Amino acid sequence: MKIIAIGRNYAEHAKELNNPVPGVPVIFMKPDTALLKDNKPFYHPDFSEDIHHEIEIVIKVSKEGKHISEKFASNYFEEIAIGIDFTARDIQQRHKEKGLPWELAKAFDHSAAISNFVVKDKFADLQNINFKLDVNGIERQVGNTSLMLFSFDYIISFVSKYITLKKGDLIFTGTPKGVAKVNIGDRLEGYLENEKLLDFLIK
Ligand code: MG
Repeated sequence: MKIIAIGRNYAEHAKELNNPVPGVPVIFMKPDTALLKDNKPFYHPDFSEDIHHEIEIVIKVSKEGKHISEKFASNYFEEIAIGIDFTARDIQQRHKEKGLPWELAKAFDHSAAISNFVVKDKFADLQNINFKLDVNGIERQVGNTSLMLFSFDYIISFVSKYITLKKGDLIFTGTPKGVAKVNIGDRLEGYLENEKLLDFLIK
């Protein structure tokens, strides 16, 4: 399986990092070794002084597809989860300045934390889902999918023009504003609507 991630999909987040709001989705990838599941702790790596949390809704692809039209994209996923796209912001900043790729900042081990998946039919409107991240019991990031620049269906259609999607692939769909540094000892709790699905420690 592969992990595809969308950057800058919420305008307020693009602005907080002084990035332009994109006209087409910004795409990057993480390897399967980036996965962190079952609310296991995230061990802070020593190569970065500035690892940020990015709470995101994650789509699980349910069947293979290429050149999927937006109209049929909803047939290609049945479940969603929430995840954290951990980002070494200091490394990313240095690489952005030099126009270099982001892998060292985005694709490192355990940089893709995911919760259990929930059947999408549970939600009345996929374009109006609330999600949030609390850090040490204090609300840190609040999002709603209505604020996405590119919808789930558009993302699936766009990505599948370039990259064949396979069953089990995951797509991180971008983070709302409020990204910040994590510190050893922090407790991260992620909610999809009112259900707490993520609850783990930074060690
Ligand atoms: Mg992200």
